[in-house]
Amino acid sequence: MTDQYGDGTRCVHAGLPEPVPGQPFLPGPVFAATYHVDPVTGPARDGYGRPDNATRRLLETAIGELEGGDCRAFASGQAAITAVLMSVLRPGDTVLLPSDGYYAVRSFAAATLERLGVRVSYVPTAGPYPPFEGVRLVLLETPANPGLDVCDLAALTEAAHAAGALVAVDNTAATPLGQRPLDLGADVSVASGTKALTGHSDMLLGYAATRSPDLLEQITTWRTQTGGIPSPFDAWLAHRSLATLDLRLARQSANAAAVAVALAARSDVDRVRWPGLPDDPSYVVATRQMRRIPGIVSVDLGTADRVARFLTASSLVYAATSFGGLHTSADRRAQWGDDTPPGFLRVSCGVEDPDDLVRDIERALDQSPR
Ligand SMILES: *Cc1c(COP(=O)(O)O)cnc(C)c1O
Repeated sequence: MTDQYGDGTRCVHAGLPEPVPGQPFLPGPVFAATYHVDPVTGPARDGYGRPDNATRRLLETAIGELEGGDCRAFASGQAAITAVLMSVLRPGDTVLLPSDGYYAVRSFAAATLERLGVRVSYVPTAGPYPPFEGVRLVLLETPANPGLDVCDLAALTEAAHAAGALVAVDNTAATPLGQRPLDLGADVSVASGTKALTGHSDMLLGYAATRSPDLLEQITTWRTQTGGIPSPFDAWLAHRSLATLDLRLARQSANAAAVAVALAARSDVDRVRWPGLPDDPSYVVATRQMRRIPGIVSVDLGTADRVARFLTASSLVYAATSFGGLHTSADRRAQWGDDTPPGFLRVSCGVEDPDDLVRDIERALDQSPR
């Protein structure tokens, strides 16, 4: 599917094979681990499910079209990110990670990368960034989860490449409809598909996309050898969910805009962050770099106790970790050990009606005073 089409058209058609009369638009999952086996010479592809699977290939074609690169799907976002880190980094290399990004990446770096002799440095997404000389790989996460700071991908990628570093971008919060890191110069776009990409809170998925044949081969080899593949059913379900990505993101983003404006107008909450608010510190870079702003708002309600009272009072905001789903949910990140204030809440806006959502949140806040 070429880029001449808009987002909705591209999502509906992404990765679909040529239509076959009497067959569904998206063929059902091919489950077996071994199939189409030629007992004499063995098949060129589809011989065994770990290296290759027909259903997974269709999903990879779809995500690859949206990201503008070649894609490999993984069992989870963490499986994809560790594949990128482990296939690039060698003992003695330096990797630069976001200090405010997804916490499990930092845990992996501390538990495994450092033990393998990789030097790990951290930088906040909003900067200031150190010189990239001597760095092998820069991992950027923008907007960063959960704080929603944003960084300038084109400028940072140019500086990193000039110093000989590779750049990977965690595109989870934005999704490929929000920004296309490969177009902005990144070597790899890597993401969790568990969140807004698939959007139904019913699976874990990850992927890495690149235009570099070398990186693609290294990442593919890593996946084949370590086996972190999604199941055919999850690959099929993810592909089915992609068709509505444009619609879901549009509503989530509109809901986040309404919720952010309503929260920012209140005197009983602090530090409302949504990169689409004109006075947000991320606004200038986000609106230049991103084609749409995610449906995530962060806010500080003051205390853990108030967060609990707010979530109890709300009828539409589910207390749940993760984000990007159809149902509005909120997560107090400090409970997981994230380095955030005790009352910091990441609100993931779903696809409910904006008026209902704003009214429910306003009422629940009124009923849970500081
Ligand atoms: C959730 C998340 C991940 C990890 O994804 P899983 O699918 O849970 O393994 C990585 N990066 C970001 C930004 C995330 O939000």
